[in-house]
Amino acid sequence: MEQKEMIRIRNLNKSYGNLHVLKDIDMKVLDSDVVCLIGPSGSGKSTLLRCLNYLEKKDSGQILIEGTEVEPGTHDINKIREKVGMVFQHFYLFPHMTVLENVIEAPTHVKKIPKAQAIEEAKVLLAKVGLSDKADVYPSKLSGGQKQRVAIARALAMKPDILLFDEPTSALDPELVGEVLATMKELALEGMTMVVVTHEMSFAREVGDWIVFMHNGRVVESGPPKEFFSNPKEERTKEFLQTTV
Ligand code: ADP
Ligand code: MG
Repeated sequence: MEQKEMIRIRNLNKSYGNLHVLKDIDMKVLDSDVVCLIGPSGSGKSTLLRCLNYLEKKDSGQILIEGTEVEPGTHDINKIREKVGMVFQHFYLFPHMTVLENVIEAPTHVKKIPKAQAIEEAKVLLAKVGLSDKADVYPSKLSGGQKQRVAIARALAMKPDILLFDEPTSALDPELVGEVLATMKELALEGMTMVVVTHEMSFAREVGDWIVFMHNGRVVESGPPKEFFSNPKEERTKEFLQTTV
């Protein structure tokens, strides 16, 4: 069966003032695929993710989410954010809420799900990310890896169709990276559609279905991981891969 197009980007451009940050970006993300977005710092990866989630407004071009072009102002952006969840480098958990309260916050307040139901669902998600025993703990008591797994559970609580990850392991101590990548890999195997900005090349190689390399606001090269990593075609890609082994 043909995979549905979950995200389609055509000719996307975005500037901050005089700084042209995204240049004629074309990209697609198919259902259940994991697209890994790689590239040097400042190449526009975060801006691209933020445009997909309408945290930033594009200047021109097209972004279709599940076939629908979304125009801020004419569409309900919150509805799109329900479909497109996001996990950030710095977690952004609510510090004054317990883990469980963090996870049920959006479902109960944004989606108006009855609290008892939201709690039941949150418990399932916390079990899934291996944190059942932390439900009543405050974020300050958690390790970075645990915080990020809570952030993933919180994103999943909205039942998104697509999850965006912006360097989810970059703020973690090295020994905590593995547990977060393992959780992400599990989601990928369950068929979650994911776009992952990462510097973890072994994750991209192993879990990614498609690699997109950005440099200076452009998609320089993309392809399936085997081909991309073993036979990069562009000089910039080769240079980048040499710096990241
Ligand atoms: P990456 O995530 O690949 O490191 P970013 O998308 O964060 O790249 O940034 C791309 C460029 O846009 C960088 O030059 C950065 O300094 C600039 N930039 C990012 N966000 C803003 C902003 N809110 N205002 C102005 N410039 C920004
Ligand atoms: Mg970034």
